[in-house]
Amino acid sequence: MDFELSEEETLIQSTARDFAKAELEPLAPLLDSHDDPGGTHRASFLANLRKLAELGFMGLNVREEWGGTEAGAVAFSLALTEIARACAATAVTVSVNNLVCEVIQALGDETQKKAYIPRICSGQWSAGSFGLTEPGAGSDPSAMATRAVQDGDSWVLDGEKVFITSAPYAGVFVVWAVTDPAAPRGKGISCFLVEGGTPGLVLGKEERKMGQRGSATCSLSFDGCRIPKGALLGKRNGGYQAAVGELAGGRIGIGSLALGVGSAAIEKAARHANERSQFGKKLAAFEGIQWMIADSFTELEASRLLLLQAAFRKDQGRPYAKEASMAKLFASEAANRACYRALQTFGGYGYTEEFGLERLARDARVTTIYEGTSEIQRLVIAREILQSYQH
Ligand SMILES: Cc1cc2nc3c(=O)[nH]c(=O)nc-3n(C[C@H](O)[C@H](O)[C@H](O)COP(=O)(O)OP(=O)(O)OC[C@H]3O[C@@H](n4cnc5c(N)ncnc54)[C@H](O)[C@@H]3O)c2cc1C
Repeated sequence: MDFELSEEETLIQSTARDFAKAELEPLAPLLDSHDDPGGTHRASFLANLRKLAELGFMGLNVREEWGGTEAGAVAFSLALTEIARACAATAVTVSVNNLVCEVIQALGDETQKKAYIPRICSGQWSAGSFGLTEPGAGSDPSAMATRAVQDGDSWVLDGEKVFITSAPYAGVFVVWAVTDPAAPRGKGISCFLVEGGTPGLVLGKEERKMGQRGSATCSLSFDGCRIPKGALLGKRNGGYQAAVGELAGGRIGIGSLALGVGSAAIEKAARHANERSQFGKKLAAFEGIQWMIADSFTELEASRLLLLQAAFRKDQGRPYAKEASMAKLFASEAANRACYRALQTFGGYGYTEEFGLERLARDARVTTIYEGTSEIQRLVIAREILQSYQH
């Protein structure tokens, strides 16, 4: 068993770390403000996305012929962690962009791949969006109500999506809709490509969120939205299984993001414990503090290994859905505990905005919710384990 990263993976990790420290970290607190939605800092955020695209971070697991880096899932996980250590809002955008590129790579025909993937990978488009969740279909996307009806050489979409990351600046939306309402649950859903600005695609206003505020989250409505026949992505009525399959890769991204946020928090705590004194001793001398630091560093190291295992299996072309769910579940919960313990180690100072810990705690919170809640990850894990013990 070899735990060493390849030369290319090490280079990608250090490039991401250096860029994140220099360009993303200073902007992160400014993006967090509720007072500037879509305003001055948004332009800098989008400029950073373009720079990340130029560095090759938008298609890490995409083949070079489509403009990707073809560096693999391990490299993707490493990069995401470094970006999230500095700015979770940027990291989630990078994660979703990679996911959208991978969905198109997996399902698209040559024309679709050529038309869409290079524009995201190159930064010509700031983002792509992944439109699955609906008001009545969150943990259970098979309950979706958005309909797509074929009309001559077009498809016409009607319905609503909610919580869509990057919607205001997405060049393309990968969207799921019911194409056969009579089919059993999940069997009549197809996937489509909808370009930003298509008539009938209406963006709702941006959600005011607890954390990751720099990343826009919006509802979408499709009101007689007409798209060409060629916008069908993959097989008609085969979209649901494709979505479920591709989400496993997204979970490696979100777990890696959580690891970055949790690490940033607990590293701040370790530095603070070495600096501040009470009762005539450094905080680091108290067992109560040492245990919090030890527990979180251990849990985050375990998260890192689970994530790299899932990513390695993906790179090897082996099944990895259960491993990705385990990694996402463990890393997101460990990251939340790390933020809690880091804030506790800082005492009252952690509760102020000055040290950035309260932001990290808010940014970490959603990682147990999006791309499948912790409960849904447990369901995926248990289903596969219990199946393997049937005989
Ligand atoms: C900031 C943000 C960004 C997002 N970005 C996107 C995006 O880009 N694209 C997209 O499609 N979606 C996106 N989402 C949606 C996200 O994936 C959903 O919020 C998530 O899947 C949960 O769905 P829900 O909110 O409808 O909760 P619900 O499904 O209503 O769940 C509510 C609670 O019930 C629990 N629950 C549900 N079913 C079960 C069960 N069978 N067993 C046990 N417990 C259960 C859940 O775990 C949860 O605790 C985003 C969400 C947020 C907050």
